[in-house]
Parts: sequence; C-alpha cells; structure tokens
Amino acid sequence: MDRRTFLAQTGRTLALTWTAAAAVSAEPAVAETQATAAAGSARQVIVLGAGLAGLAAAYELKKAGYAVAVIEARTRPGGRVLTYRDPFADGLYAEMGAEYVDATDEYDHRFCKELGLKVMTAKLYDAIFVRGQRFKMASFKQNKERLPYAGTEGGRLFGQEAAYLKRLLALIADPEKLPPEILKLDNLSVVELLLQEGAPDDVAALFTYTQATESTARPHEMSALHLVRSHRRSFSEDTDEGRILGGNDQLPKGLARALSGQILYRRPVRKIAHDGDGATVSFEEDGVLRTLRAPRLVVALPFKVLRDIEVTPSFSPAKTKCIATLAYGHVMKLAMQYQRRFWDEPTSLGQRVFTDTMLRRVYHFSIDQPGPRGILMSFTSGADAEALGRMSEAERLQAALQEATKIWPEAPRHFEGGAVKYWNEDPWIRGSYSFEGVGQARDYLQIAAAAEGRVHFAGEHTSVHRASMNGALESGVRVAAEVRKAEGA
Ligand SMILES: Cc1cc2nc3c(=O)[nH]c(=O)nc-3n(C[C@H](O)[C@H](O)[C@H](O)COP(=O)(O)OP(=O)(O)OC[C@H]3O[C@@H](n4cnc5c(N)ncnc54)[C@H](O)[C@@H]3O)c2cc1C
Repeated sequence: MDRRTFLAQTGRTLALTWTAAAAVSAEPAVAETQATAAAGSARQVIVLGAGLAGLAAAYELKKAGYAVAVIEARTRPGGRVLTYRDPFADGLYAEMGAEYVDATDEYDHRFCKELGLKVMTAKLYDAIFVRGQRFKMASFKQNKERLPYAGTEGGRLFGQEAAYLKRLLALIADPEKLPPEILKLDNLSVVELLLQEGAPDDVAALFTYTQATESTARPHEMSALHLVRSHRRSFSEDTDEGRILGGNDQLPKGLARALSGQILYRRPVRKIAHDGDGATVSFEEDGVLRTLRAPRLVVALPFKVLRDIEVTPSFSPAKTKCIATLAYGHVMKLAMQYQRRFWDEPTSLGQRVFTDTMLRRVYHFSIDQPGPRGILMSFTSGADAEALGRMSEAERLQAALQEATKIWPEAPRHFEGGAVKYWNEDPWIRGSYSFEGVGQARDYLQIAAAAEGRVHFAGEHTSVHRASMNGALESGVRVAAEVRKAEGA
C-alpha cells in the first residue's frame, strides 16, 4: 500500500508523532514509521529550518492546531540569531549574528512580549572616525562640521546620497505605482545612478560605509531602484535601536521550547519532492537518508543553501532563477574582550564609533552588564569582511586590535582576546542576508515569497522587512496564514 492509498483508506488525517524517533521514515511507507493515526487530529506541515522564520511559522501553525515537524541542520535553534557566552569572562556575552531590534520592529516586539522578554535601548553613535579624522557626534551635528568627502552636507552622516536623488524622487507621485523611468533604475547599480545624477565619487565611496555596510553589499552590486524606493526609511545615525535584554538567543530558544518535541535537529535537508498532494523531504540522519512526507511544506531555508538542494519537479522558472541568483552579502562580527572600558573615559573619542576602517562599525556591546571588563564589537561587511575572512582567526583578532588602536590608542594594554564569526564560512547560510542586487528590486520579493503548489516559503528574504529578525518573524506569521487559507481554515 503506498502512502496515498493508505491515507485515502484510513479516511482520516494521519497525525505523526513528530518526535525524532517517529520522523525516521526510510521509504517505503508511512505505516512503517512510528507514526500514529489519530482520528480527527491536526493536519500536518513540515517546516524546513529552525531560524526565526521557521520557528514563527511552526509556532503559529501549532497554535492553530496543526501537527508540525521542523527539520534543522544545526543542533540549536535560531540560525542567524547567535549569542556567544562561553568565550567571555565575567558572564559577558555577545551577539555574533542579529543584534538590533528597532523601535518599529513590530513582530520582534510582539514575540518578545509573548515570551516575556524585555527589549532594552542601545546607545546611538557618538563619534565618527573617517579618513583618519575624528569627530564627536554632538559637535559634528551642532557645528555642522563636514565629513572629508566631497559633495557632502555638513552636520550629517547618513543619507548624503539623498541630495542627488531629488530629480528622480520628484517623478514619484504614488510610491505604490512607480513610473517606468523609476522602475528601469533596477538595471543600474547605486554607483552608476549616483554618478549619473552628478554625485562626486566620494558620495559613492561614503555610501560604502553607510547604507552598503548595513546591506553587507558593495554599492556597485546594489540596485539603484532599491535605493530610490527605500531611501526614506533607511538606517541613520538617529535610528532608535534596542536589543533583547540578556541576549537575543532567548527569542528563538523561547519559540523552540514551545515546539521542542517537534524539532528534529542535526538533520540537513538534501532533497524535496512535491506533487499535487504534498511534499516529501529527504534529510540526512547520521549519514543515512530518511524521508518525511506531509500535505504541506514550509521552506524557511535561505536561498543561498536552497540552491544546493535537489527539487523534483523543479519549481517554476522564475522561482528557480530567484533561488539561484538572489544576492547575499559578506559579513563578520568580531567581539573583543577588554579588561577595562577605556571607551567610556573622558579622553575617549566615543563608545560607538562609525568608521571607514576594516572594523566599519565598532561599539561598546556590553552596556547591560557590570564592568570593569567589557566587549567592543565590530560589525563589518562587504570587501572588509571578505579581506578579514581570508585570515586565520588569530590574525582577524590581531587586525581588529590594530584597527581599534587607531581610535583608542590604549586598546592593546587592555586587550584580553575575543571571538569571531564570519557567516560566509557557515555551511548553513554561507553569506549574510539577502539584498536587492542589480535587476532584483522589481519582482524578486514577490517571486521569493510565492507558494509553488503545496510548498510555501518563509525567511527574511521573502519579507519586505528583509535582512532582519522582524522580517523573518513576519514571514513566518505570513506563511502560517497562507497555509491555513490554502487549507480553507
Ligand atoms: C552578522 C549579522 C548581523 C545581523 N544583524 C541584525 C540586526 O542587528 N537586527 C536584525 O533584526 N537582524 C539582523 N540580522 C539578520 C537576521 O539575523 C536574519 O534576517 C534572520 O535571523 C533570518 O532568519 P531566517 O529564519 O530567515 O534565516 P536563518 O536564521 O538563517 O534560519 C534558517 C535555518 O535553516 C537552517 N538550514 C540551512 N540549511 C539547512 C538544510 N540544508 N537543512 C536543514 N536546515 C537548514 C539553518 O541552520 C537555520 O537554522 C543579522 C544577520 C547577521 C548574519
């Protein structure tokens, strides 16, 4: 009896006991697994990936009465939310992946509230170190000091490119209905657009350290359409950012706890086969390929890894192209432990410094923890992350210390060590997060999010709030509603 016949003959929904043991479903039949039939019980959904997107989807579906199984390659939940505690002394910890929760991040705040987690306020940039020049943010803003970049306005750091977008922005009457002149900007890169609109090279150079660093991309890789469309809600020196008090890992761990019996860890997915009745997922378990089938599948895997998973039959040509080519950047975080918090002393340039050094953004991370020790964090991306990525771990930390010394000359006296996470060498993402590359800002988001038959898609790359925890959670909630709607619930 094949699976379909079996299901038809039982005439009821088959609810698997989604425990690690029960999930073992070497072909040929569900009946051979430890699946238990439960009359009138929940419908089943398999979710791939226990990052925030997959966890939120599974959590919402479980609440709605579905039987869910989450298949995850790692031994922990959270994906790109990763809090390191062990490498540091005195109970210090550091966010090596996602860090900031903005005041406007609706889904972050909603899930934190649901799990009883508190969001604290982080500190804003208080200094700038670019082209060897040092600026205290307060006097920079007040006295309208100028950055050493031609074509920039005094007193502001982020958004210098806006002055060169005015002609194009005037063409937009309704942001929901962009005219053809604007849509065709998708064929240009940010650099090409800025130069075309009369910006000096320096404005594009500064953009590398402002928005492109946030996107973890290089300006010549980023779509000009993305820039024009998003510039009003871009990150700036005034963005109100927070963090989850005690560590961001509490968010995925809280969701995973609510799903613990349903998450299968250490099981990399290798194949997806789908048809009109459902999908079969093949995953590795201790070197053996096992399968699991359900009427619906949620794929919450980054496209950077999904492109290496065999899909039968292939998804639509548009989806296949999007999976194969969606742009991802380079990103590294370096957490440096120091014996003393010299950055808080009166002679210091500041405690959160915007730089054009290899460290890009460098800031006091341990603001919620008692001293005297503390952690300086660097978030670096693009070409600098790649260059550091070619070094050994010891060399990366040595380079970080050298760069920090340019800003705080006393740094070497207090340096004790640190930890590095280069996401491009992590096998389960091999990149940072998605961004809209040239040619990808018109329809890629819709294509990425669209269901393919009984296969649904979640993940930061499918959300308008891409590249964020908020976007990942939003996509999980969206996909759970999509599954329910497709099932007529
Ligand atoms: C360095 C860095 C800094 C960031 N900073 C911020 C920030 O300050 N604020 C913010 O909001 N966001 C930030 N982000 C972005 C945020 O982390 C992501 O947008 C979000 O966590 C993505 O969630 P996701 O569920 O879509 O993907 P992921 O977290 O990547 O989850 C996907 C899951 O799928 C699993 N997986 C992969 N391949 C397989 C396979 N073959 N089989 C089974 N499982 C597999 C992975 O192990 C992972 O658990 C940052 C990200 C990075 C890397």
